[in-house]
Amino acid sequence: MDSFSLEQAQALDAADPLQHFRQRFVCDEPDLIYLDGNSLGRLPLASVALARDLVERQWGLRLIRSWNEGWFELPTRIGGKLATLLGARADEVAIADSTSVNLFKLAVAALRQQRGRTRILTDDLNFPSDLYVLQGAIEMLGGSHQLEIAPSTDGVHGPVDALLARLDADVALVVLSHTVFKSGYVYDMTAITAAAHAVGALVLWDLSHSVGSVPVTLNAANADLAIGCTYKYVNGGPGAPAFLFVRRDLQAPLRNPVSGWMGQHDPFAFGLEYVAEPGMRHFLTGTPPVVSLALIEPGVDLLAEAGMAALRAKSVQQTEYFVALWEALLAPVGYMLKTPRQAAQRGSHISLGHAEGWRINQALIRDLNVLPDFRAPDNIRLGIAPLYTSFADLYHAAQRLRQAVDEGIYARYSRQRPAVT
Ligand SMILES: *Cc1c(COP(=O)(O)O)cnc(C)c1O
Repeated sequence: MDSFSLEQAQALDAADPLQHFRQRFVCDEPDLIYLDGNSLGRLPLASVALARDLVERQWGLRLIRSWNEGWFELPTRIGGKLATLLGARADEVAIADSTSVNLFKLAVAALRQQRGRTRILTDDLNFPSDLYVLQGAIEMLGGSHQLEIAPSTDGVHGPVDALLARLDADVALVVLSHTVFKSGYVYDMTAITAAAHAVGALVLWDLSHSVGSVPVTLNAANADLAIGCTYKYVNGGPGAPAFLFVRRDLQAPLRNPVSGWMGQHDPFAFGLEYVAEPGMRHFLTGTPPVVSLALIEPGVDLLAEAGMAALRAKSVQQTEYFVALWEALLAPVGYMLKTPRQAAQRGSHISLGHAEGWRINQALIRDLNVLPDFRAPDNIRLGIAPLYTSFADLYHAAQRLRQAVDEGIYARYSRQRPAVT
């Protein structure tokens, strides 16, 4: 325990080449330890200025003229920038709708393309909403597909062997979260993609917990399809629209099942028949939410400026540091590590289990000024966003997690849970 000190954490911060990025975000509460950047990223200062310009000038003064002064191109222009963080070509990424809706569009498109194949593979670590969307897609397509959910043996690591064993020529689509939302386990995108391709299956990756936190190499992995959020590590703002990636050669054969005028070849000709615009635009559907779409850009710019390699190096150093803190301070008071020990298999958050996880989480939020998040049944998730999380944050978080138990602070709270956790 003595080998950790605040001075040591501060020295690590002083040596951190990305330390100055924290000042590019609104961080006005010095004592607050914010470890929920994997649910809602912090507000970039540049977004504050851009929001004012969007509302006061672009909307207030320029009015409808703004559509021709940049708004119409926003989905593909910002998508093109985001592509650089995903190892994809600029014309393979667009921004539209929510992650769930994009999953529906791409899953249905892929299943129609894979006619004759009836199985969809996923795992029980996937984000439940993704499973709900797939269940809805199956129902809409007539109920002849089966969703097979491979079980993880320990709730932490992805069931790679079970997935590979189920791959055969009847599998249409594999749908996985690249970085798993509960444990932070990261799949080997290249290996899974290659195995799926070997039997003619397509793979759809959910990158919600990967984008901006781990390097993603869609093209190098020969990935087919991907979707993901922009309000987590990308810092795009609450409910900011999501992205979708379709590999260049799949863009023409795949059809957007929610065909709308924003994907129409010439939307302002108001023709009565849908003619898909070539490329990523035909995966758009309706009018984009311009204000929240435009506000994604400062977050993308900050990640690009820092560089994914440098961000990953810091994230690995920080998760290793926190695992060491856990071992020294937290394991002795009942916290379990529910995240892979091997850095190569780990994204940018640490999950801790504890028999009193829910009540500890309440104590952290209400008494100890730590904002983690909680995932049932007992997961306290500590999101590490290398753009702004400091080593001192992690040191304080470990101290306060320990304090919550040592001082019995959690015992003030009931085991009852509210609707949103
Ligand atoms: C956060 C998250 C989502 C969220 O989807 P929405 O449509 O934005 O609600 C989906 N999938 C995964 C893996 C996530 O982590």
